[in-house]
Order: sequence, then C-alpha cells, then structure tokens
Amino acid sequence: MNAEILDYVIVGGGSAGCVLAARLSEDPRVQVGLIEAGPPDRSVFIHCPAGLMVLARTGKANWNFQTVPQPGLNGRRGYQPRGKVLGGSSSVNAMIYTRGHPQDYDSWAAAGNPGWGWTDVLPYFKLAEHNERHEASSLGTWHDWHGNSGPLNVMDPRSPNPYSPHFVHAGMQAGYPRNDDFNGPRQEGVGLYQVTQKNGQRHSAAQAYLAPALGRRNLYVISQAQVTRLLFAEAGESSDGMPRIVGVEFQQGRSKRQLRAACEVLLCAGALQSPQLLMLSGIGPGAHLQERGITVRHDLPGIGQNLQDHIDAPLVYDAAHLTTLTGLSWPGVMNTLRAILEWRRSRTGPLTTNFAEAGGFIRSRASERIPDLQLHFVIGKLIDHGRATPLGHGYSCHVCLLRPQSRGHVRLASADPAAAPLIDPNFLTMPDDMERLLRGFKLMRSILSQPALARFGAQELPASAQARSDAQIQQFIRNHADTIYHPVGTCRMGPDARSDVVDTRLRVHGLRGLRVVDASIMPDLVGGNTNAPTIMVAEKAADMINEDAAAAGSKS
Ligand SMILES: Cc1cc2nc3c(=O)[nH]c(=O)nc-3n(C[C@H](O)[C@H](O)[C@H](O)COP(=O)(O)OP(=O)(O)OC[C@H]3O[C@@H](n4cnc5c(N)ncnc54)[C@H](O)[C@@H]3O)c2cc1C
Repeated sequence: MNAEILDYVIVGGGSAGCVLAARLSEDPRVQVGLIEAGPPDRSVFIHCPAGLMVLARTGKANWNFQTVPQPGLNGRRGYQPRGKVLGGSSSVNAMIYTRGHPQDYDSWAAAGNPGWGWTDVLPYFKLAEHNERHEASSLGTWHDWHGNSGPLNVMDPRSPNPYSPHFVHAGMQAGYPRNDDFNGPRQEGVGLYQVTQKNGQRHSAAQAYLAPALGRRNLYVISQAQVTRLLFAEAGESSDGMPRIVGVEFQQGRSKRQLRAACEVLLCAGALQSPQLLMLSGIGPGAHLQERGITVRHDLPGIGQNLQDHIDAPLVYDAAHLTTLTGLSWPGVMNTLRAILEWRRSRTGPLTTNFAEAGGFIRSRASERIPDLQLHFVIGKLIDHGRATPLGHGYSCHVCLLRPQSRGHVRLASADPAAAPLIDPNFLTMPDDMERLLRGFKLMRSILSQPALARFGAQELPASAQARSDAQIQQFIRNHADTIYHPVGTCRMGPDARSDVVDTRLRVHGLRGLRVVDASIMPDLVGGNTNAPTIMVAEKAADMINEDAAAAGSKS
C-alpha cells in the first residue's frame, strides 16, 4: 500500500468488518483499508466445518478471553472466545444461521431507533443471503422471508448425523411443532438448523464477502496488525468545533504505523473490543478512564455498559453405541480417518458437521408470547466449550435464555492495548433469568427423555443426573452454565447522547468521523444466534455510509 490516507479505515475484519470492506469498495473511486489483528484465514481447520473442534481445543485464531469471576456462576470465570483472524468470530463460530424474532427488531425501533424495525431490517437480511433452498422451495411465503442472490451462502446441513433427526422427533413427542425454517413466519418449534456453509465448507464473512473483493485495487487489507488507538483531529482541523476522528494508530510486528481516513473510521472490533478501543483512545466513561490514567477526550458514559450475553446450560449424555468425532475411542479414530478421506474427496460426510445440527425455539411457559429459550442439540459430549477431550461418545443439549435481564459491562484492565479487557456479563444476577433457565432446563430434560432418544439407553452424566430438585438444578446451572458466545450491546444504539453510544446511523454521539458497526451496537440481544444479525447491521450501515457520503458530496 502506498497511500497513507484512504477514504475509509475499517478496524477489525470480523463479520461486520468484512461486509463493510466488500460493500464500500464496490465503488472503485473509494479507497478502503481494513486492519485486522489476526492472520488471514488459511487454516484448513477454519474451512472444514468440523475443524471447529480443533480450533476449540487448540485455542488457535482466538482471543481466548475470560470473564471476571461471576457471582451468578458461583464465582467461576466464564470463557469468552472471539475470533482473531480474517472473518473474526464468523471464522470460528458454529455456523448456525438464525436471525432472531421479528419482535426483537420492532423493540429496537420502539426504544428510539426508527429505521431498525423488522420491516426495515428484513431487506438487509435478504440482501446478504444466498439460500440454497430458495430455488427448490415451493413454500408460499418462502420468498418473502429469504434471499437468493446475496454473498452469504446458507444451506441445509449436508450430511447430518442420524441422531439430529432423533432429537427433532423427541421434541415433537414432547409436544413441540416441527419447524423446517426458523427464519420464516414462525420461529417456534424444533428442527435442523440451516448453516452458513458452501460446498461443504464454512462460509465465513471473510469467504462470503472479503475473498471475492480481494482483487480490487481500491481495497487494502492489513492483517496481523492491532489498532491501538483512534486519532483525533488537531485543534483547527475540525470545521465545526466538534471533535473529529481522522485515523488510527496500529502495531504491526515491531513497527507502529498510522493510517488516516479522509471520510470516516469504522470501528468493527466486536462487542468486547470496540468499547475497549474507544476507551483506550480516551472516549468513554470519564471517571473510569481517569482511574486508568487515560486522558479523557470525549466523556461518553454508555461505552462498555449494557453488556448482554446468552447464558446457556448444558446436559451431557454418555451413549456407548454412538461414535462421534469428539470422543476418544478406537472406532472414533477410524471413523474420523474415513471422514477425513471423504471430506477431502467430496466435501461431504461427518466433517461437514457444525456439531449443533439440531435445536429449537421454545417458550418457558405457555403465557410467553414468543420463544424465550433456544435449544442446541450437539453431536458429541460437549464439555468445557469443546476444550476437553471426553472419553467415549455421547450427545449434549444446551438451553439458552434468549432475552436475559442481567446487564454487565466491559472495562479496561489497564491503559495497555495488549491487555485483555475486563469482561463482566453479570450472568444470572436477575432472579427472572434463573427462573426461566430453570424451567428451560426441565423442558430440555423432558425432550431428551422422550422415546425417540430414550430408546437408545444413553445416560445423563452424573453431575446433572443427581440434580433433581429445583434447588439442585439451580446449583447445577450455577456450576456449569456459561455463554453461548453472543455478547452484544456495549456501544448501544439509541437517541440519548449521554447514555447511548451511537445514533441510528451508527455515528458515535458527539464525535465526527467515527461509526461503530458490529454486534456492540445492538440495543438488546435478539432471540437467536448473532452472526446473521451482525451481518445485517453491516449491510445496512454500508448503505447509510454511502448515502451520507453522497449527501455530503452533493452539498460541497
Ligand atoms: C465460538 C463461537 C461460536 C458462535 N456460534 C455462532 C453460530 O453458530 N451462529 C451465529 O449466528 N453466531 C455465532 N457466534 C456469534 C457470532 O459469530 C458473532 O456474534 C459475530 O461474528 C460478531 O461479529 P462482529 O463483527 O461483531 O465481531 P467479530 O466477528 O468478533 O470481529 C471482530 C474482529 O475485530 C478484530 N479486532 C479486535 N480488536 C482489534 C484491534 N484493536 N485491531 C484490529 N483488529 C481488531 C478481531 O480480531 C476480529 O476479527 C459464535 C461466536 C463464537 C465465538
């Protein structure tokens, strides 16, 4: 790259950053730079879906954060994985494609964010999506809900494990409707998830958006470079007296460099690191910044607040008759070797699994208007986020609370950009959260005890099997629950320039030249997995950035 000044500088090449890089560089007149802390996504363990297990066990391509001790989890520290590679968390995630419930977005709009209701965001979900079921589908309403010409490939699992349909049958035996499209008119029910894969490979945001754009002469990707602070305009550089961000400083190897943005800096470092980088740059809650010895450039108390995450409780079963990829056994090793050959030959077979192949959305009690719980049925004994290698085989199911009331925050541990942020989701501190999760745990157990699964004689692991009373189950949950990897909300979108962080066009309140575009802007968690919603946010942001640039151009 010979230019040290570009039009847009994007910080973070994750789900949102890759979308912005691709969309903004569609205009050849616009110079776009993307700076990503991690390496390019070359590892086969990223592209091969089941490589997810290897990534989990090795901690590769991951920031591997942890939370501060959580009183709601009996003092345990939670694990907070985040992708550190092009594609960000979409390069290490479980590839489930869900969008949340339409009402989630209507609630965003009702909270003072016009333009973000369901009918506003649905076109962006469709714009992003290439759903392989589209052509084949004769469902009357399918085309109202899904896209078939977007960059992100969405497909049905290619070679699902036979146990996944057994779970779906068990759910139906427990009284839940079968649902073949969680992103259609009705979210509730049990079924197989659609996945962000293409030809039996992971389709991350890097593969879907960035890879096809890499040949453009106006797109500069700088990897293995960590942005350490945002640069303010010198006094006099800003025309209207409002502080202006004009670029970034980053560390690449031993060298420290700067890159300036003629139009805007677009912060896409994710829900944990976007607030961290803002605070490192002197933008955030003034008192906290002073505590850390950082000069306050712009006091914005909402930065880092409002952290929300999906808390998730697991049930794990031993199943002697099952052979999975995750467990340790001779038949397991032989199966894995055969699966490797098959995947190399035809991109089919067990290695196309995302492990959490089936699941569902259910209500913790009949009086709930929409599902408040999500189930993930996992092929394998998922212990300690997949970091442990269990002996023998089995399956797991997780129940997660979709709209927790507990709110936490992200703060700085120190003014050193290399230090991990302090992450405090405050899990299970609100009584309502525990009540719903407890009900969900019992509903999940009743599904797993239905004949469609029970006939195989799998055994619940002793730690949970012994938890029968409500008090015992609550203790089990506090001892074993953790995130299902959906932190959001730490740069909340909203109209209040004091307590919210960005406006509805994702511009940081009180600053010029800076937007935040990633999962951190979500005012509240959506009832589903967060990759597609983040991609939607970035698609909509790209449109707004282009519109604003056009409007500014026509004025000047
Ligand atoms: C293990 C796991 C499983 C998941 N499973 C699913 C799933 O199945 N389905 C689903 O929908 N969602 C899933 N998610 C969540 C989903 O992937 C995330 O919500 C989404 O990717 C967030 O996108 P983002 O752009 O906000 O952040 P990210 O994708 O995390 O991107 C942030 C990027 O910024 C980079 N970065 C951070 N700081 C700096 C800096 N200072 N300088 C330069 N670069 C920086 C990071 O390295 C990263 O690449 C999962 C997440 C994880 C971690």
